[in-house]
Amino acid sequence: MVKVVKFGGSSLANAEQFAKVGEIIRADKSRKYVVPSAPGKRHSKDAKVTDMLYACYALADEGKDFRVQLMKIKDRYDSIINGLQLNLSLEEEFKVIAANFKEKAGVDYAASRGEYLNGIIMSKYLGYEFVDAAEVIFFDEQGVFDAEKTHKVLSKRLEELETAVIPGFYGAKPDGTICTFSRGGSDITGSIVAKACKASIYENWTDVSGCLVADPRIIENPKPIKVITYRELRELSYMGASVLHEDAVFPVRKAGIPINIRNTNDPEAEGTMIVGSTCQKADYTITGIAGKKGFVAVSIDKDMMNSEVGFCRKALQAFEENGISIEHMPSGIDTMTVFVHQAEFEGKEQQVMSSLRRLANPDFTELEADLALIAVVGRGMKSQRGTAGRIFSALAHANINVRMIDQGSSELNIIIGVSNDDFEKAIKAIYDIFVVTRL
Ligand code: ASP
Repeated sequence: MVKVVKFGGSSLANAEQFAKVGEIIRADKSRKYVVPSAPGKRHSKDAKVTDMLYACYALADEGKDFRVQLMKIKDRYDSIINGLQLNLSLEEEFKVIAANFKEKAGVDYAASRGEYLNGIIMSKYLGYEFVDAAEVIFFDEQGVFDAEKTHKVLSKRLEELETAVIPGFYGAKPDGTICTFSRGGSDITGSIVAKACKASIYENWTDVSGCLVADPRIIENPKPIKVITYRELRELSYMGASVLHEDAVFPVRKAGIPINIRNTNDPEAEGTMIVGSTCQKADYTITGIAGKKGFVAVSIDKDMMNSEVGFCRKALQAFEENGISIEHMPSGIDTMTVFVHQAEFEGKEQQVMSSLRRLANPDFTELEADLALIAVVGRGMKSQRGTAGRIFSALAHANINVRMIDQGSSELNIIIGVSNDDFEKAIKAIYDIFVVTRL
């Protein structure tokens, strides 16, 4: 049995956290491949090393003196090394980094050093082989992840190694330049490594005991989710639930490897299992609730719209031409409404509206801003009658006006549009009805 274990930044923020991680890894011999993040915050006012690297490189890029900033980063690593009493010096590594910063090696190179250096420390601490991600994780010239080449090279490399540390977050382009995933991307590396070594499980260790039914900033002490499917998680993370990077499910999902979200500070807790499918019923009819504020509804009316072949395509082309992605699109006989991200749309609003007039020639258009979308997600909804009814009566009782409803044919989720001001109240009402009162 082989387990891949990925540790997030807060699990590796200082020597004490490293020691906990060491204990976790040594407690189970099958935890053979380790993917570390860069050191995260040690307390709420602290800085993540990745953010320090971005700031430091910005100075280098402007031709300013960055040495003080770089030394602060070195101090973070040195205090981990000293705290663990390792016989290791990063002096030479930092000389190379400083020289490369001067040469303007790129912002991705800079950010990647956080994981790279933490990987070196971790491999020394565990006595595991260090595998530089630049040798085994690949991107194309445009920076798109190259799954095929990566799988081929990485699986071969891991076959030769009993145990290894592979730093997260980055890889290399064909010309050898370093490229990173988007923020939080070590989760993706962990998933890629799990697929490459055909792991039986991908353990993702963080600072919470798994996924929660709702956002703890809105609901006090929300219930944990024990088992969730990849598809449910994808719906929830897309709508803002942020335990795992939203792209991290793809490699393991294809390979059928479950992900177990675990808490480094509470290793006994079982955490959340993320699986392909399950016959285990969720504790509640719904698995989770998530949502985001800041959408605009673009209402488009045209008489006889329904019989005009190609109307929707023309209307959507107006958004596509201006690089605006579309979130939802409920429609009526003579109307359609397109939901877009406010932040993306605002700057291009008039261009989109003029493209719309030119391409689709609608009778009437209207814009409504400051809307929020809430996704109520659950595999259990399909087999239960009245779920939608319960949601809407809870919202009505809470005096919330529902502006949009969208239920996919998979019946995995119901999306509800409300005004930004009603967002928190709506989530509380839905959580209450399904989890607290369990109606
Ligand atoms: N260190 C990177 C970040 O802060 C990647 C990661 O932690 O997954 O985004």
